[in-house]
Amino acid sequence: MDATLKKYATADVPRYTSYPTAVQFSEGFDHRTWKDWLAALDEDATLSVYVHIPFCEKMCWYCGCHTTVPNTYDRAERYVQRLLREIEQTAPLVNGPKGRVTHFHFGGGTPTYLKEEHLAAIVAAVRDHFGFAEGAEIAVEMDPRGFTPQKARALADMGFNRGSFGVQDFNPHVQELINRIQPYDQVARCVEDLHKAGIASVNFDLIYGLPGQTIESVRETARLAAGLGPDRIAVFGYAHVPWFKRHQKMIRDEDLPDIDARYEQALAMGEALCANGYRAIGLDHYAKEGDSMIAALDNGTLRRNFQGYTVDPADALLGFGTSAISSMPQGFAQSSRDMAKWASAIDNGELTIDRGVAYTDEDLMRAEIIEKLMCFLRVRPDEIAEKHGFPEAAIAESWEKLKPLQADGLCRVEDGEVIVPDERRLFVRTVCGAFDAYYKPRPNRHAKAI
Ligand code: SF4
Repeated sequence: MDATLKKYATADVPRYTSYPTAVQFSEGFDHRTWKDWLAALDEDATLSVYVHIPFCEKMCWYCGCHTTVPNTYDRAERYVQRLLREIEQTAPLVNGPKGRVTHFHFGGGTPTYLKEEHLAAIVAAVRDHFGFAEGAEIAVEMDPRGFTPQKARALADMGFNRGSFGVQDFNPHVQELINRIQPYDQVARCVEDLHKAGIASVNFDLIYGLPGQTIESVRETARLAAGLGPDRIAVFGYAHVPWFKRHQKMIRDEDLPDIDARYEQALAMGEALCANGYRAIGLDHYAKEGDSMIAALDNGTLRRNFQGYTVDPADALLGFGTSAISSMPQGFAQSSRDMAKWASAIDNGELTIDRGVAYTDEDLMRAEIIEKLMCFLRVRPDEIAEKHGFPEAAIAESWEKLKPLQADGLCRVEDGEVIVPDERRLFVRTVCGAFDAYYKPRPNRHAKAI
């Protein structure tokens, strides 16, 4: 990587899974505002539901998620009881009829850490209180370790039709360094179990930048992953922030690849996936030809939300569980990230939301520009500004910020269209930064670009 690219690769930039980003959420978000937003939902608005399970069997040293390893299962059981109450308390506040949930996503943590009866109770609560639309996608994140054919069948019986496995890396040495031993055969069996149970859609997550990884090892991981035929594969860069995630101190600095190696690893994984039947989507997703995400890319309906790229067209996203973020036409709201506060709000019959941000008209305009760039690597900013009723001058400063990025080859402008070339897709977040009115490059505020 040359010095110019390295400068951008090491800079901190938002992930742009939302705009404004979570850094702009303010504390003490007013519950009345949240209630007004729920009540103002259009009767025919479609809904997406996200449920967060903050528990895992064992801590992976690289983990950046909001999760814990409980001493006993009792803690998880109490969490589930409160989660059910949270769903029950929120549902009557949501305007409109039932049957509008087009996507339901169970994330964590490890949702499959829960006993089947508890998983089933949560799915039933969402079904009873909100109702699934015909053909809704019901997806769950899973840990291949401890996954069994019985679990696969139970998930299928509950209605799940997509499963996402955290694969990360197949190399045994890397798995040892990250405290996550899950041999290739185990993952292959999980995919088979899922398919046999009738859950046809499978996602994998892979990671580059982990301790002990080399360009050859990540290429091999990507090749093996593609060989198992998941519909979609997401490739994330490991964010080493041990001052923030203390368990990451178990990863030695000297085992981590440097910035040049991280960049080469990201490219190598992408090349291996594309050589094995996958197409690149946006920053970091890959999908097999025929997958609905490829269709959404081609027909312009691809979206980006807190789970990354999605074909979810829902008008609003309702999040349940500690730290879960909801997205409404008026803005974002987040449940307390402190589990004790989240629990006590529910016990007191109060709402769990404690942070959020309401959109300004300008936010909505910039959000559309950024989302389009993140999804399609191209956007016509002036047209979007005009659509939102803003003069071109409203984004004149963004065009200025774009000039050095253009000069350095991160993007080009053709006839008013900003285009991120395929070979610079890893830097699309940097280009988005030019249209972010809040973004100030500052160390340790966001993830590194690479
Ligand atoms: S299983 Fe996933 S959420 Fe749990 S510790 Fe490992 S990486 Fe984190």
